[in-house]
Amino acid sequence: MINLEVPKKFRAFVNQAHQVAAEMLRSNSREYDLAEHAYPKELDMLAAMVDGLGASGTGSGAGAAGVRRPSADDDDDGQVKNGSNLSSVLSVLEMCWGDVGLLLSMPRQGLGNSAIASVATDEQLERFKGTWAAMAITEPGCGSDSAAIRSTAREDGDHYVLNGEKIFVTAGGRCDAVVVWASLDLSKGRAAIKSFVVPKDTPGLTVERLEHKLGIRSSDTATIHLDDVRVPKQNLLGSPEIDTDKGFAGVMQTFDNTRPIVASMAVGCARAALEVTKDLLTRAGVVIDYDRPAQVQQAAAATYLQLEADWEAAYLLTLQAAWMADNAQPNSLQASVAKAKAGRMGNDVTLRCVELAGSLGYSEHELLEKWARDSKILDIFEGTQQIQQLIVARRLLNKTSAELK
Ligand SMILES: Cc1cc2nc3c(=O)[nH]c(=O)nc-3n(C[C@H](O)[C@H](O)[C@H](O)COP(=O)(O)OP(=O)(O)OC[C@H]3O[C@@H](n4cnc5c(N)ncnc54)[C@H](O)[C@@H]3O)c2cc1C
Repeated sequence: MINLEVPKKFRAFVNQAHQVAAEMLRSNSREYDLAEHAYPKELDMLAAMVDGLGASGTGSGAGAAGVRRPSADDDDDGQVKNGSNLSSVLSVLEMCWGDVGLLLSMPRQGLGNSAIASVATDEQLERFKGTWAAMAITEPGCGSDSAAIRSTAREDGDHYVLNGEKIFVTAGGRCDAVVVWASLDLSKGRAAIKSFVVPKDTPGLTVERLEHKLGIRSSDTATIHLDDVRVPKQNLLGSPEIDTDKGFAGVMQTFDNTRPIVASMAVGCARAALEVTKDLLTRAGVVIDYDRPAQVQQAAAATYLQLEADWEAAYLLTLQAAWMADNAQPNSLQASVAKAKAGRMGNDVTLRCVELAGSLGYSEHELLEKWARDSKILDIFEGTQQIQQLIVARRLLNKTSAELK
């Protein structure tokens, strides 16, 4: 396997994240998989540590909130100083090596936090500091096609009044606020869809129920009702203008930052499966030789090498997408390429690892069966495999969403 080194400035931080993932996430992994919907209390302490790292600057960009892009005036010489997208991706990767569901349950590290970090003004960033924010896009009649959102936000004096139903909201039960996508004017199509930060205690917001799921069972997934929910106008993220030329650009910008993060979750989870499988194969007497062609080795060794190569490709694409964000380069194409590749790789690799380990892989003796279940969602949320491929095709062929559906 090619072994590109983690940049020196991130090394201590990544080692720290790995240690925490081993001691606090991996060690509680099975317990909270079995106790679905139980609150993983160990995460409160962990979240405080992540906050501390962020505040001290040691872990600039730690976790989901670290995806803010540099602006042109970040540095006098035009160089980007912090590389916070890359450090977010690297830290999330390590944490998901520990446990994806628990990472998704980390206080103040929700996908809504990434949305806030991506598009909030400095004033909003300050006001929502310390908030744990979930992200609510999906509705009963709208999944992949987010332009079909039917939730509304009506202007009323200094407030917007929100109505609608949101489903499958990750951390929706436990968070402090929800970033809700709603339309300012249903007749104006996708350009009128904006995101609003809605504190959970706002009257009219109710959490209806939590889902039972195949994987990431330690993460809560909620249905949320919005019934005449009033939020101050200052809680709209980005511009309130309905610019039909720009279409979806405002809210979609979030995905350029969050898709590499979800890709890194798949990369972290798959690496966990590869490491355990390698150990089991070695103990079973299979020799994996990096200096000889795969096709002349034992079948299990050859399969393993193929899986590692697939993993490496996903890893590098993920780093590339995050690096581009840090360097203020447009990365929509690369973010979708990384998400598509890592999502599919995560599914393939974790399931093939179950296969290679046989009955040990299928049983609860190991976490391999759990990682195969956990990885499935990473190829679904933040845009499914098929949707990423569609976006990539549109970008490469220079087609609009109306031309290529
Ligand atoms: C555990 C979990 C957590 C989630 N967390 C969140 C969250 O925090 N916030 C949130 O807003 N949502 C969340 N979701 C919802 C998730 O983002 C959606 O499930 C996803 O976008 C797909 O939408 P859908 O389920 O309605 O499937 P559909 O859009 O109905 O798609 C069904 C199938 O058709 C395919 N398909 C759809 N359109 C096309 C097309 N044009 N071409 C080819 N194939 C197509 C899809 O790829 C998929 O395979 C979560 C879902 C789950 C299961």
